[in-house]
Parts: sequence; C-alpha cells; structure tokens
Amino acid sequence: MSVPIVRTVAELRTVVAGWRRSGASIAVVPTMGALHKGHLSLARTALQKADRVIVTLFVNPKQFNSAADLAAYPRTESEDAAKLAPVGAHLLYVPDAADMYPAGFATTVSVSGFSEGLCGAFRPGHFDGVATVVAKLFLQTGADFAFFGEKDFQQLQLVRRMVQDLDIPITVVPCPAVREADGLALSSRNVRLSPAERSVAPKLASVLLETAEQLARGSPVLPMLAKARAAILSAGYREVEYLELRGEADLQPIASIDRPARLLAAAWLGETRLIDNVKVSLTFPVAAKVHG
Ligand code: AMP
Repeated sequence: MSVPIVRTVAELRTVVAGWRRSGASIAVVPTMGALHKGHLSLARTALQKADRVIVTLFVNPKQFNSAADLAAYPRTESEDAAKLAPVGAHLLYVPDAADMYPAGFATTVSVSGFSEGLCGAFRPGHFDGVATVVAKLFLQTGADFAFFGEKDFQQLQLVRRMVQDLDIPITVVPCPAVREADGLALSSRNVRLSPAERSVAPKLASVLLETAEQLARGSPVLPMLAKARAAILSAGYREVEYLELRGEADLQPIASIDRPARLLAAAWLGETRLIDNVKVSLTFPVAAKVHG
C-alpha cells in the first residue's frame, strides 16, 4: 500500500472535509522531503495523537537564501512516499511552488524576535519564508495538531509564537531530535558529507552535550562557550557560525543558567552547514555566572 498523494489545495480540502465528516482528528507534519528516520518519527508520533496524518513535502523556495542551496536540496518524492507507507501516514501533500506562490503573491508572515539572531542572523529572510509557508500549510490543512522536531529549535519556537499570536487553532507538538548511533542529528543535508566529513560530524553534538553538562554543573558560561567553539574547529569543522546559550522559551540570550536553557550552534563542515542544539537543565541551585 502506498500513501495517496495530492498536489492541489482543492484536492487536499476534499479529503480533509471527508475526514471531518467522520469526526476524525487531523495532524500535519510539514517537511521538505528527503525523508529520514527523524521525519518518520514525527509521523509516528502524530499517528499516536491524531486519527489522520498528513505529511507535507514542499521544498519552500522562500526559505532558501541561496539559489545554489535550493537547487542542490535533495528531492526524492517517490522514495519518500515509499518510506511513509509502512509508517501508516494517510496522505502526502506535495504542492507546487507555482500554486503556493502564484503571480501577485504579496503576503509575508514575520515573527519578530524569533526570526532574528542564531540562524536568522546568517540566513536573512529564512524565517519569514518558514513562517509564511507554515501559516499557509496550517490554513490549507486545517489540522488540529502539528508536529515539529526540536532539531530545528528556533523554528519550533517561532512557529509556536506565530500560532499564539495569530490565534491559529492548532496545537504544536515538539518532538525530540533523532540521532545516529554516534550522536549526529539526522538531517537531509547529511547525505552531502564525504566519508571523512561524516566521521568528524558527530563532534558538534558531543561538544554541545559536554558543554551543556558542564554549564549545568555551574561552569562559567563565556569560557565554556569559547572552549566549545575551539573544540568544534579543532575537530575539523571549517567555521562556527554561532554557538550560543539562550532561554528555552523566548530564545533570548542569557548569561547564566537561571531558567531552562538551550545551547544552540551552527557550523560548516566543508560545504555543508549543520545545526544542532541541546537542553541545558538546571541541576544545581547555584546558577552558573558569566566571568568578567
Ligand atoms: P525539514 O524537512 O528538514 O524541513 O524538517 C521537517 C521537520 O522534521 C521539522 O520539524 C524538523 O525539525 C524535523 N526534523 C528534521 N530532522 C530531525 C531529526 N533529526 N529529529 C527529529 N526531527 C527532525
């Protein structure tokens, strides 16, 4: 059995209306395709929560900063459909860019604060593109639940803020990052890594984890962040775009672990940009203090 595919909003709405008539609850799992076990885990979690699960596959041109990156993004629709069938997803929605953004399209959804800094500082316009397409997907599907990975933590928090601000009647459900056995977070971009780069890649996650543990134990923030940057570079990464400690809920910069926090990073391994983040739990009553 393969997953039925629809490509237009009209077809999508016909299927959804039928489900609604039968009283079914509906979940949406937005993706850009090239599905891996991380995406499939979102779909599996969605199936536990909702009666019907729509996976969307759209390589959204508005969230790419570079035409080369957009052109190089892996596109594997038939493999994606084959992977989703055994999981039990009910529908794959694969809209056309020309239908999503017809001539004259003029609306942008922008979530200030959440779209700046971290990835936003290095990918201008990226999060406006994300917010705009996610808002459209929520309105097109009319889903009750949306599943997002914590792997893209800034995106997750931005989408939550947007849903709250625009009173969109959907519950955003965060899902933990799925990792390879060596700790590397699964990403559609990992296929671009050479064997040598692949062996270096897990260092990003291991450095973040070690640093988070030490911060939770009270080590000083700024020296720990500097040490972590150096460790990522000496492992073989070409550049660390950012490595920052932020408050978990609002993603504001923080200088001490006085509330739940996240350590987030983006780094270049050869020509591949990888991102990752880990939770920093407050395990000691005394907050870590910034030195100097
Ligand atoms: P993408 O196709 O990369 O835009 O990702 C689609 C959804 O899958 C987003 O909610 C991502 O956060 C999520 N996702 C991507 N990689 C992972 C992963 N390794 N573990 C869990 N979720 C992921």
